[in-house]
Amino acid sequence: MIALDTPIQFVKGVGPRVAEKLKEKNILVVEDLLYHLPFRYEDRLNPRALNELVPGEMASVIAEVRGTVLLRTKRMPIFEMTVGQGPTSMKCMWFHGTYLKDKFQPGQMLALYGKVEPSRSRAGAFKMIQPQIEVLPGPNDPEETLLEVGRIVPVYESLGGAQLSSRWLRRVIYRLLEDLGGVLPETLPVELCERMQLPSRAEALRQAHFPPAGTGLRSLQAAATPAHQRLIFEELFFLELGLELKRRRMRERLGPAFTADPRVREALKQVLPFHPTAAQKRVLSEIVQDLRQPTPMRRLLQGDVGSGKTIVALQAAFIAIENGYQAALMAPTEILATQHFLAARRLLERSQRQPPYHVVLLTGSLDEDRKRTNRGRIVRGEADLVIGTHALIEEKVEFANLGLVVVDEQHRFGVMQRFRLMKKPNTAEPHVLVMTATPIPRTLALTLYGDLDVSVLNELPPGRTPIVTRRVVDERAEEVWGFVRKQVAAGHQAYIVYPVIEGSKDDQPELDFAHDPEGEAGSVEASSAAKRTKGGPAAGKRTGTKSRAKTGSLFEKPALKSAVAMCEELRATHLAGLRLGLLHGRLSAEEKEVAMRRFQRGELDVLVATTVIEVGVDVPNATVMAIEHAERFGLAQLHQLRGRVGRGAARSYCILMTAGRVTPQAEERLDAMVRTQDGFELAELDLTLRGPGEFFGTRQAGLPDFRVANLLRDRKLLELARQEAARFVERGEKEMSRTSVEIVWAYLKAHWQRHYGLVEAG
Ligand code: ADP
Ligand code: MG
Repeated sequence: MIALDTPIQFVKGVGPRVAEKLKEKNILVVEDLLYHLPFRYEDRLNPRALNELVPGEMASVIAEVRGTVLLRTKRMPIFEMTVGQGPTSMKCMWFHGTYLKDKFQPGQMLALYGKVEPSRSRAGAFKMIQPQIEVLPGPNDPEETLLEVGRIVPVYESLGGAQLSSRWLRRVIYRLLEDLGGVLPETLPVELCERMQLPSRAEALRQAHFPPAGTGLRSLQAAATPAHQRLIFEELFFLELGLELKRRRMRERLGPAFTADPRVREALKQVLPFHPTAAQKRVLSEIVQDLRQPTPMRRLLQGDVGSGKTIVALQAAFIAIENGYQAALMAPTEILATQHFLAARRLLERSQRQPPYHVVLLTGSLDEDRKRTNRGRIVRGEADLVIGTHALIEEKVEFANLGLVVVDEQHRFGVMQRFRLMKKPNTAEPHVLVMTATPIPRTLALTLYGDLDVSVLNELPPGRTPIVTRRVVDERAEEVWGFVRKQVAAGHQAYIVYPVIEGSKDDQPELDFAHDPEGEAGSVEASSAAKRTKGGPAAGKRTGTKSRAKTGSLFEKPALKSAVAMCEELRATHLAGLRLGLLHGRLSAEEKEVAMRRFQRGELDVLVATTVIEVGVDVPNATVMAIEHAERFGLAQLHQLRGRVGRGAARSYCILMTAGRVTPQAEERLDAMVRTQDGFELAELDLTLRGPGEFFGTRQAGLPDFRVANLLRDRKLLELARQEAARFVERGEKEMSRTSVEIVWAYLKAHWQRHYGLVEAG
């Protein structure tokens, strides 16, 4: 008997060898295969007539083979086939198509799917280049005919080679559904399905694979049929259910309850250098609410660049310290840690408290003695506030009594688990505040960050003038340098940013090209370069530059200007006489700090840099952000870079300089930058352009790979799933039968670990 948990190799038509292949695709049991849904559908019930096609559209047609020929051109062999319907015909061609020779006989019926192009040949008004192709079964194969012709046909992503093609999948899945018989164990409560008018699981799977005649093709493609919606909802419901449980379990943990009495508030007020914005006040009170609870805070603070997150964090730290606990502030880079350290010291020095606060810096570049001394002070409880880089604080430090951890500029996920390590046995867990400048729509944030509550700083401090953003082509660079001189003459400072550190080709870009693959689309060389640098800034030197040098100019990327070379050039030419500094990731920590501090103190006029300055750096006197090769940067990066200026009262400028060809995608990014400064709007667009996987870096996030759902497309269902999951936990027992409730828990238990992998099942 076949059941959902039957290992895949026992399925008719599979066997051990194919099962091995399927395993690579994470398909282990029958259920996995059933959830491998078609990625598109072909309407072979009402096929298109050849003479009604429209150039430019993607179309599927059914036509008969008329003739084939293999043309051996100088550059490559081309396989040409003429297909026809009655008197009309169409030409199809495949480059390097030798493998197709002898595969077709005149009279055979084919299903073709491809882009319709105009054609001037006598064979008809249209042609298709490299269409997808399927030979339709002959009349003496009734089962195949049933699946392939005269219906809406599912098209699957191949699970490996021609052997495990769409056609193979259709047959195997069809038989599977037959063998399983119309009933499959439910996963969702019937009460819920009825209330939401969702089809049963069996029905949904059947219809998603083999849509009944009359189903709209468009709603199929958009995964908007009731069948699809049910399967998507199911997936999201269990995800949210697991997260809901996780949140609840968190609330059972023990954290230090702080007081924020009038004395503490008065002390806080004393050190504040300015009036907080209304948003800062609101967020702080949300944080204080959490801190007063005897459960550990797990809060995400989202605030656009420059919205003033640091001060909120320091206020929270202040409360912890006033309550007799230690606080830790973790930054992603040494530059930022040092900057926070200086800011915190300035702030706390304003207080009259005796004894004074002890702030300790902990970064990799401190010498070993200093580090040891500082660690000693931390473990003995002599340090009130510890500021350092993530890695250092997480891995190596023992605290006397840590009450609050603040993580600044956290783009990566999966941070939460690690804080448990910082907890001593039998003590309360510290409160945790994570801050990010990457705005994420609320529902997504709640899902992605799992068990975090979310606060939003949606207001910029007063007195900011909007940043003027302009695009400039490389040819007008001289004007830009002239403008920089003018701003410097007026007492301001400027950043000039480059995508690579050194050398135009051999260099490993500081920029993470992997985040932006489409920016390179069309160039073979470039796309392999993107792969090579996938390891990010830490990856080794790029290799393979030799072969690039030999390729013709057609595929040559325009030479990239680099920070090192341009710093020298500008110093000698257009910016001669100004004080230029250089900052990039390959400098030693000390050199970085010196450059940064000199810029901060106004001892440098211009900082030539790579994206190391992307995050968090705060120099209010800087008014110009010039970015060369802006077309190479991702939207989030550009927005972060722009956020480095416009921090003071003077008008600031962001100049996006482009060189050479700009892809349509890059155009869109640059346009958006000029159009808006709203981080949420830009994040939404970024999300749409890159897709959720790229945007969130799913793999690093430890996010589940969804089988059916798509976080971006299915946001409404996600919200619904979230509500329903909470309701189920809250009232499920009252509203539903015992069987329904048990079904849900059983499914969650069996699947959470494997598919969502976020928490231990429970
Ligand atoms: P981000 O949210 O990007 O980390 P910061 O905390 O670095 O922003 O703050 C940006 C700048 O705004 C800093 O120079 C900070 O001193 C200033 N700032 C923050 N809050 C206020 C406020 N309420 N009024 C005036 N300036 C503020
Ligand atoms: Mg910041």
